[in-house]
This record gives sequence, C-alpha cells and structure tokens, in this order.
Amino acid sequence: MTPVSDIKVPDIKSVGVVGGSLSGLFQAVALAELGLDVTVWERSAGRPDDRGAGIVLQPGVAWFLNTFCGVDPDRISIPVTHRQYFGRDGSSHLTLMGQRMISWGAIYASLRDRLDSARYHEGQPVAALAPHPGGVDVHVGDAVHPVDLAIIADGSTSRHRELVTPDGAPRYAGYVAYRGVIDETELPEEMSAVFRDRFSFYDGDRTQFLCYFIPGDFGEMAPGSRRMNWVWYVRADAAGLDRITTDRDGTARGLSVPPGLIAPQVHAELLARARTLLPEPLRRLVEHTRAPFVQAILDGRVSRMRKDRMLLAGDAAFVVRPHTAAGAEKAAADAITLFGALGQLPSLDAALEAWEENRLAEGTALYRHGVGLGQRLGLDGPEPTTAASVEPTP
Ligand SMILES: Cc1cc2nc3c(=O)[nH]c(=O)nc-3n(C[C@H](O)[C@H](O)[C@H](O)COP(=O)(O)OP(=O)(O)OC[C@H]3O[C@@H](n4cnc5c(N)ncnc54)[C@H](O)[C@@H]3O)c2cc1C
Repeated sequence: MTPVSDIKVPDIKSVGVVGGSLSGLFQAVALAELGLDVTVWERSAGRPDDRGAGIVLQPGVAWFLNTFCGVDPDRISIPVTHRQYFGRDGSSHLTLMGQRMISWGAIYASLRDRLDSARYHEGQPVAALAPHPGGVDVHVGDAVHPVDLAIIADGSTSRHRELVTPDGAPRYAGYVAYRGVIDETELPEEMSAVFRDRFSFYDGDRTQFLCYFIPGDFGEMAPGSRRMNWVWYVRADAAGLDRITTDRDGTARGLSVPPGLIAPQVHAELLARARTLLPEPLRRLVEHTRAPFVQAILDGRVSRMRKDRMLLAGDAAFVVRPHTAAGAEKAAADAITLFGALGQLPSLDAALEAWEENRLAEGTALYRHGVGLGQRLGLDGPEPTTAASVEPTP
C-alpha cells in the first residue's frame, strides 16, 4: 500500500458521515487515514443496536481491522475447524472447513477505538442533507455543517437514500431470523462440547438453523467464557410479521424486536416450534436462551450510489440476505474501495465514478446470490409484502 503520507486526495478536505454503525465507521476510519477531516453523526445515544450479534469474519473485514485499526483479527475472533450438519433425529456429520467467527460488538469496538472520539457525535440524528455545487450542508439539530463529501450510511431503512436514487427501499423477503445469544457459562458442558470448533447447521423443511461460538461480551476468548450465537430462519407472511414484531408492550416495531422485548406469546410459540421442528441439541439452545430477538429479512438494491457529492454505503445501498454472511464485508469493501479510488485517481469525479461502478457491480452480484440462497433453502414466502407495508423500526 502507498504510504498514507504520500497520498493526495483530489478536491476534498472534509467528509460528513450519516450513521455511526459498522458501515459509517469503516468509512470514517479509512477516510481519516487519508488525512481527511471526517465527522460522524449517529442517531442513537450509546452503542447502536447490536443487531449483528455474531458475524462470520470475512477476509476484507479482517484486512481492514489489521491494516487500519492495528488489531490482530485472530485475537478477537474464534476459530472453527469444521462444519457440522444435523439431521432431524439429532445425528450429525462433519466436513472440514476452517473459518473465524467474530461479534458485531468486537468489530464496532475496534473501529470506535481507532476513530478520534471528537469526530463521532452520538445521539445526533442528521435531519437533512442539502447538496450544492461545492459540497453538502449537513443539518443536525439547529446547526448546519458544510462538508465537501457526504456519505449516507444510515442503514436499510435509510431516510436520506432518496436524495441519491429513487429506488432501493427494502422489501420484506417473507421470513424472519429469530436469534439468540447465550453465555457459555449458562450452557451445560456436554452442550458446549457439541458445538465447540464447529459451525453447525440444520436445514429443515423451508427453514434453517445455524449456530457458532463468538467472543464474550467483553471480548473473552477462552472456552467457557464465550457466547453461543444462533440464528433460526422461519417463514412468516405479512400478518405473521406484524404479530411477531409487536413487542411485549403491544408496540408494533415493524422490522425487529430487540432482546427482552419479544411478546410472551411469541416466545412461547418459538419454544413450541423448536420442540416440534428442531433436532434435540438445537432445541436445547433455544430453550436455554433467556432473551431471543427477531429481525425481518429484507431485500434492497439501488441502481446508483452517488449523486453530486453524496454517496450511499453499506445497507443504505444494498441489503443482502444474511446467508451470504457478507453485509459487514460489503460495508468494509465500500470503504476500502473508496480509500483506494480517492488515493489513486487524478480527480474526484474519476474516483467517485470508478468507486460507484465497482460497488454497484459487487452489490448487485451479492444481492442476487443472497436471493438465490434464500430460494434454494425454500425460505421465500409465497407473497412477500411490498416496501410500502414495511415501516422502519422505531
Ligand atoms: C439476521 C442477520 C444476520 C447477519 N449476519 C451477518 C454476518 O454473518 N456477516 C455479515 O457480514 N453481516 C451480517 N449481517 C449484516 C450486517 O449486520 C450489516 O450489513 C452491516 O452491519 C452494515 O450495516 P450498516 O452500518 O450499513 O447499517 P446499520 O447497522 O443499520 O447502521 C445504520 C446506522 O445509521 C444510524 N442512523 C439512521 N438514521 C440516521 C440519521 N438520520 N442520522 C444519524 N444516524 C442515523 C442508525 O442508528 C444506525 O446506527 C446480518 C444482518 C442480519 C439482519
């Protein structure tokens, strides 16, 4: 890589990032590394929702953590040596496949630690972006912050996406992911042993369950102090989605319900479904989970990712199915590619054009791949709802 001190970024000095989750942070860290004056505005106060829980560590994220954050990814991720496939009767077979598993929180913490805290403003939603010929005015509260380039990384339900492109609003794919995280200390040793060093799967009739260990809440890595992370994809029509995502207080949340807020009836149904449909070791994981949570699976794709001095990044551009295990990887690649284009190409226009071409091609390919995987698993619902009937999570 060219030494950063030798890189000259054409035409821009300041960058504003809308959204301080993984995509916004990848962008902010990489662009600050180019010597740009980067500011992030994040709507949530405190750590944004830990919606990723466990994440399969892909090479681009590992490279980013190593190169830009000075973090050895092997020290914050858990290796698996095999894939383990369960049958309905609880029997299993193994295939050799080494991978590493990380938590959303470990990636987030590495990125936040790398970014100067003065650049990151929590609890400050961006109300509006106003583009003009030389840049973009970012409206936050009563203040207006002029920047040379704005990166819109406000997630799948982006409210600013339409400034760049009229398409891309997410569509419900017809199924949800129930999820659970269990402290290893709460699992009997004989249960832990079943899943140790394994990425485990059960492909049932139009359903899939998968699980693996991730680091503990504070990064603990030693066996016994980690967390078990599971995901269970279950079909649900539009009415079912509404019911599942209405929380214990009766609030309709639309697309997800965080840990601790699932309605008792929905939790009871989850347990009953697990007892009927899952192999015994996986059923026991669901039973051991104190606070499951749920997320609707969405599809989203855009036809453009830049307009004027505004770019779309991460889930604000493409929402790919989680079977690709590529959402965080794609967000990292959005940032790595922009870093490379700005650092190597002679003009801003040339850099942004090359970046957009590359990111549209990869986003479209991943989107299609994810839809294909969902269909092969038989997960797509018969009548997916339209974007208009899906409201963003409050
Ligand atoms: C079930 C499931 C499993 C997954 N598994 C994996 C996996 O194994 N591997 C993987 O790579 N990826 C996985 N992903 C995807 C991955 O979590 C995301 O793709 C990735 O984190 C990128 O998200 P993002 O930062 O673009 O968006 P988000 O995480 O949605 O962040 C958007 C941020 O913008 C903020 N925001 C919104 N509006 C405003 C505003 N107006 N002003 C300021 N801030 C705002 C929000 O508060 C939020 O913090 C999974 C996703 C799901 C649903």
